[in-house]
Amino acid sequence: MQTFKELAKTQSIIATILQNSLRDHRINHAYIFTGDYEPLLLEAARLFAKTLFCEKQETEPCLVCSNCRRMDSGNFVDYYEIEPDGATIKKEQVQQLMHDLSLRGLEGNRQVYVVSQAHRMTPQAANSLLKFFEEPGEGKVAILLTNQPHLLLPTIRSRGQLLTFRPADRTIIAAALSERTGRDAELATLAARVYPKIDDAEQALSEEWFVNARAQVLQLMEELMSRPADLPLFVQEKWIGQFKSRQDARIGLELVTAFFEDVLHLKLDPSWETITYSRHRPLLEQAGAKSQATITRSLQAVLEAVKRVEANVNPQLTVERLMFDLQKG
Ligand SMILES: [Zn+2]
Repeated sequence: MQTFKELAKTQSIIATILQNSLRDHRINHAYIFTGDYEPLLLEAARLFAKTLFCEKQETEPCLVCSNCRRMDSGNFVDYYEIEPDGATIKKEQVQQLMHDLSLRGLEGNRQVYVVSQAHRMTPQAANSLLKFFEEPGEGKVAILLTNQPHLLLPTIRSRGQLLTFRPADRTIIAAALSERTGRDAELATLAARVYPKIDDAEQALSEEWFVNARAQVLQLMEELMSRPADLPLFVQEKWIGQFKSRQDARIGLELVTAFFEDVLHLKLDPSWETITYSRHRPLLEQAGAKSQATITRSLQAVLEAVKRVEANVNPQLTVERLMFDLQKG
């Protein structure tokens, strides 16, 4: 995200508040950005910092001055980010940050530091930060990011300006995941859909397992339509090896669910744009040749299978029974 204009597409209130404070030169010494999707909070924090440092001093970064370019390349000396080291942000990390802030700051008259997942500060770390808040010094701006603002110390919360972001749009999340992981948009959309937590989705996208999982699901659908008699063999030889654990089995079935939901959407509205398996439209259309009643029954059968896996029924038995139901149509 390069501009406030872009941020305003999904977060118009946040963009307006931040741009007004830039225009009026009324910058707080602490902000708390909160929302359900931390990568978006971090992008907004970087954008705000970049605009503060920009030589043009306007309400958008110019993107061409040397400060803007150094912010983009990630080596601007007056900008700092810290994040949890393992499970928590430790006192030593905050103290190191404070030390760095006290040493530098000679380049310009402002320093910005961002604390990601700020609710993971240990009480000692939070107290160190609090001491610093009480005597922030000239030009220092803190931006704390958190999806759990209620876990911040009340004394910290009360000293920062709280900006609450709107819940993030999953299609935007998928686009961001795709950009960060280099995976195609369809795979990123699938991950954002079957993993409730973004971190888990990003982790899945970094592993070949998830790429193979999609391939298995697509092959399963091809077998179902072209060679239904071979389905039991396919399940034995391929599916079971890919989706071994209960968790994996659930992901596999969720991917199948997404497939049938796409088929049903397209059946009801052939101009439907936001399909999940966007790269496999011909296969979806092939599956959509069946009657609406059949597609609906298939979808119900997959949802039943998800429930069975969650209720601890053996994953292999569950999938075998599902194949039987899907073949019946
Ligand atoms: Zn600039």
